[in-house]
Amino acid sequence: MCSQTITPSCSCRLKHYCGVAGVSSLKEANLPQKLFYALFSLQHRGQESAGITYNRGDELVTYKDLGMVSQVLTHYLAEEHLSDVALGHVRYSTQGANRIENAQPFSVRSNKGQISFAHNGNISNSDELRESLFAQGSIFSGTSDTELILHLLSRSAKKEFEENLLDTLPRLQGAFSGLFIFGKKLYAVRDPYGFRPLVMGKTNDLTVFASETCALDTLGVNVAEEVEPGEIIAVENGRIDRIDFGKQKKKSQCVFELIYFARPDSTVFGYSVHMLRKKMGAALAAVDADGGDIVISVPDSGNSAALGYSVASGLPFEHGLTRNHYSGRTFIEPTPEMREFGVRLKLHPIKRAIKGKRVTIIDDSMVRGTTSRILIRLLKEGGAREVHLRLSAPEIKHPCFFGIDIPTKDELISNRMTPEQIASFIGADSVSFLPIESLRACVDNPDDFCYACFTGEYPFKVRDRSARRKN
Ligand code: SF4
Repeated sequence: MCSQTITPSCSCRLKHYCGVAGVSSLKEANLPQKLFYALFSLQHRGQESAGITYNRGDELVTYKDLGMVSQVLTHYLAEEHLSDVALGHVRYSTQGANRIENAQPFSVRSNKGQISFAHNGNISNSDELRESLFAQGSIFSGTSDTELILHLLSRSAKKEFEENLLDTLPRLQGAFSGLFIFGKKLYAVRDPYGFRPLVMGKTNDLTVFASETCALDTLGVNVAEEVEPGEIIAVENGRIDRIDFGKQKKKSQCVFELIYFARPDSTVFGYSVHMLRKKMGAALAAVDADGGDIVISVPDSGNSAALGYSVASGLPFEHGLTRNHYSGRTFIEPTPEMREFGVRLKLHPIKRAIKGKRVTIIDDSMVRGTTSRILIRLLKEGGAREVHLRLSAPEIKHPCFFGIDIPTKDELISNRMTPEQIASFIGADSVSFLPIESLRACVDNPDDFCYACFTGEYPFKVRDRSARRKN
């Protein structure tokens, strides 16, 4: 059972940590407005808080609050704030509670000067680093990794900010794709394993960074390249410097970005998310297309895989479930009744499309199985004769320590039941998952991805903090 507040978008699905965007301009421009558009495009990566930092002359100004981009930052559409550099953030709290103290960007006055920082990811050795700083007398206002990183930076004895970064970043273990402003310089950094995406694009006047290319597209920046794992990119006045701080031999990019998290119109880790999801759907059909009359998807994240499944299996694709995009973030207590109400608010069957049919429904992944159970009931109430659930990801059996909120092992349904038992529990006629070998075969460089939540094989030794409650 969910232990936290849920929403109609349902906490029984996995959630991101965050999204970031940043802009450096050759000449002063209304950068907060540009960041509004970029962050609006990244809203799917975090809906709990939003914020931006920009320079006003030599001062850094930060504005942030709990809420969606349209709630927190809309006034920037009507105002003009000329600046040279800006960064922004949308947040979902996997590490550190949903409190304003943990909202990003973090801007501080330090012994180095003013620094602003925002990042996406999860520092897996943060407990050890925090305990050590605490013992040395540091104080913390929140529980996020962001504040910890700023403490480490300010304690660096080196003179230049680049050197402070080179002192600090190699001490961090885990996932981080982040942006700093120091002076009027924008810095992009990505951890040596490259867990989370971070891309850079350019126009004549602007250099733009974002978690996903969809944000660059919104700003009319159509050519993007990756910030490489283990790299710092520094930008000021159109000059770009690239510094290597510790590339690993093997990357560990989060395969779930491609399965579920990223927007289908984004290119992530060099792959078109939509096209790769179609390939996953086709791979699913290749191992398990046992008939049925129609294929439908759980919108929106299941759409691309369902199309791929339909083409590969020859089963017609039908619009069987419609999604209410306006159900927003109404907070609902996690009783079973209210959870069902939340799913009903969000998704509803098109009865004429499914009535009397044997329906194959494609979803991206299964966590606790509670959402699937409600969905199957909705489809059967809507008249479906049979419902066969196919998941375009393998069975999730392990926690993530790299920025994705996965429940504890005991809560994951695949640790407690076989696919047959799951089918019986959720009321489906059958359930099957994409095998891990088939998933690996979908990408050109399978060893450059992390699959730890499926396999339990982490790229390095991590301390299990999954049972720890948010505070
Ligand atoms: S454990 Fe799973 S969710 Fe976490 S980084 Fe690895 S693939 Fe992504």
